[in-house]
Amino acid sequence: MVNHARDKGGRRPHGNGRHAVVIGGSLAGLLAAHVLAGHADRVTVVERDRIPDGPEPRPGVPQSRHAHVLLESGQLALDSLLPGFTAELRAAGAPRVGMPEDMVAWSGGAWVRRTAPTTHIHTGSRAHLEHLVRRRVLADPAIRTVESAEAVGLAGDASRVRGVLLRERGGTGGTAGAGASGRRQRTLPADLVVDASGRGSRAPQWLAAIGAEPPAEETIDTGQAYASRVYRDTGAHLGTEALAYWFYPNPAQTYAGGVLPLEDGSHLVALAGLRGQEPPTDDAGFTAFAARLPHPFLHEWLLTAEPRTPVYGFRATANLRRRYDRPGRRPAGFLATGDALCTFNPIYGQGMSVAAMSAVALRDALADPRRRPTTLRVQRALFDASRQAWDISAGADRAMPGAVGNAVASRAVDRPVGWYLNRVQRRYVGDPALVGPVFRSVLTLTAPLSALFAPRVARAVLFGPVARPPAAPPMRAETTGG
Ligand SMILES: Cc1cc2nc3c(=O)[nH]c(=O)nc-3n(C[C@H](O)[C@H](O)[C@H](O)COP(=O)(O)OP(=O)(O)OC[C@H]3O[C@@H](n4cnc5c(N)ncnc54)[C@H](O)[C@@H]3O)c2cc1C
Repeated sequence: MVNHARDKGGRRPHGNGRHAVVIGGSLAGLLAAHVLAGHADRVTVVERDRIPDGPEPRPGVPQSRHAHVLLESGQLALDSLLPGFTAELRAAGAPRVGMPEDMVAWSGGAWVRRTAPTTHIHTGSRAHLEHLVRRRVLADPAIRTVESAEAVGLAGDASRVRGVLLRERGGTGGTAGAGASGRRQRTLPADLVVDASGRGSRAPQWLAAIGAEPPAEETIDTGQAYASRVYRDTGAHLGTEALAYWFYPNPAQTYAGGVLPLEDGSHLVALAGLRGQEPPTDDAGFTAFAARLPHPFLHEWLLTAEPRTPVYGFRATANLRRRYDRPGRRPAGFLATGDALCTFNPIYGQGMSVAAMSAVALRDALADPRRRPTTLRVQRALFDASRQAWDISAGADRAMPGAVGNAVASRAVDRPVGWYLNRVQRRYVGDPALVGPVFRSVLTLTAPLSALFAPRVARAVLFGPVARPPAAPPMRAETTGG
């Protein structure tokens, strides 16, 4: 599909008969489908789960029980794809947290000053956000869903993908037949197949099965495990005007976690530890684990707050990227996006934003009037959309004790860069004027990493004083005069 004529606006005139299939109806898949609907007659989203009517967690997205922040880059990308989306998100109650003003944060071994915000994050639940995206995207009549259907392979050969092999309960069409499981198996023909099936994607094996080359994979795994639970703050015991509380890990203090507000007024508590330090998922163990954080306030609060859910655990958090961007004997008409392409240790809060930025990259690559959008070129645009998030997440995790994987080894150039970034970290917590805002823009993916090396910033980082950070958790924002 990616090799045919477009109209001036980059949108394919309807009536071209083209059919795109997206595997996975989560954030990356829905947003890719939305973009492809401008270029194909029909887009089909194949989803293993039954698609819920409302904002409910579902089995195919087990991470939705855990803290999900939407960075400013993700907000901008969503607004560009679905105009007015973040206003809709706010109107539906998703809390908006100003950084650093509204968060009591411990980062790089120090408390961050709570000065006026230079960026905002959304902290509502993952299920709520996905529901709002799904409602907007599936309102398009060009997009249909095939739910409770699992992609189990690709049709075609090493030169071109021609469809997806589906296993589903019931259903009609294609070349149908009952498999050993009693489920119906059929081929869904497609001119373009996009893999958005998440970090557990089986596409490398499917490609090998049609005689194509699977991508090389890069991994860095700290064994970070999460445990999360929703609470009600029965007596406002945290006792401050802050909206959120977060402890970021570093190589010397590897426990992480915090409290984030949700759209219904409750609070999601997340706790995390590296391999060998996994937070327990039983009631008493979960509460006791919070005492390992660098300050007792969260542990003390948990003793008084009212739990509203069980504790949910999650362990698959390795950084993993699949190098589909590299040349290889791979078929035309196959792309990967979202976590299926590149997935990160979630502690840095990037995956949903990268999924949205990838959809923008897909839109721009398909619409670029100067270039023929070949499969490899479009795939490289998708890869580029995840590059900075990978550099941040992989760069930080390489330094974590016990990290394993084939991409753990640092290159010679990483050492001076690491030294410089340590200096940035020490300055950003106490510098609301220059290093703080620039560092936050880089971390929220709205400024390139190179912004940290701009002359003005480099002067402050290399020669400027280190402002003293707060000695205790800043329970009052500086902007309120506290
Ligand atoms: C613990 C945790 C916390 C996180 N916190 C954050 C955060 O704070 N901020 C942030 O931006 N990101 C966060 N993320 C990452 C975020 O969840 C993902 O990056 C985001 O959901 C985009 O993922 P995706 O759409 O690519 O894949 P997923 O959301 O994993 O969805 C994959 C979809 O594909 C379907 N599927 C899978 N296989 C098949 C198949 N064979 N056939 C049909 N359908 C299939 C699944 O059912 C699912 O719907 C976190 C992740 C974890 C694990």
